[in-house]
Amino acid sequence: MPAVAILPAMRPRALLERAVDLLFPLRCAGCGAFDTALCPACEARLQPAVGPGRCGNCSAAWDGADFCPRCFGWRELAGIRSVYEHVGAARALVHRLKYQRYRALAPLMAERLARVASDLPVDGWVAVPLHRSRERDRGFNQAELLLRHAGLPPAPARLRRVRNTGTQVRRTAAARAAALAGAFAAEGPPLDGLVIGLIDDVITSGATARECARALLDHGARAVWAVSFTRASLDLAALSAPIDD
Ligand SMILES: [Zn+2]
Ligand SMILES: [Zn+2]
Repeated sequence: MPAVAILPAMRPRALLERAVDLLFPLRCAGCGAFDTALCPACEARLQPAVGPGRCGNCSAAWDGADFCPRCFGWRELAGIRSVYEHVGAARALVHRLKYQRYRALAPLMAERLARVASDLPVDGWVAVPLHRSRERDRGFNQAELLLRHAGLPPAPARLRRVRNTGTQVRRTAAARAAALAGAFAAEGPPLDGLVIGLIDDVITSGATARECARALLDHGARAVWAVSFTRASLDLAALSAPIDD
């Protein structure tokens, strides 16, 4: 009786997702061990993107003093803070959530994100938006899912992607920045003087975060921090090469 009573209330997509969860049990993103999203051995090998050896501004790998050349001249962001370098099991978690639509990973990823995010002087949080058509194809926005599970206070306004910019994969940092110009707008009550935090799953060239920050500043924010689960530290010798992730 309960199954019959419950089934008609579930939408086809929800039913399908439940079936997929049952067919594909949880596996470690690093080594494939069963019944865990991340086993202790793989967790121990994750590279933190906080602390020594990181740029004080954009959190990319950097052994020099102060700030790295990747973020030289950035004006839009108060800074980037990320939980892990975008390699190994951390990168696999991002890809599984986004491309394999493995939503069960969101709580684990969001919990780590929240630890880094809650250290920042932020008044309210927004997620990097997907274009409507992208979100429809994927069924969800991974950044929004992470923000929701992180339990961070939402900002009064939100971001919208006003142009579909397509995938950024294989575009150079400069091409990414050009493609994203004017791609976002903030909507809702003005952010009069608030410090806003921006959530994304991965930050690579920083072009998306900077363009989102610009829209939030235009909408009245005093400052914008960007926080991501992973940070892909672009190779300094190849800053003008196409980027894979
Ligand atoms: Zn493992
Ligand atoms: Zn930097």
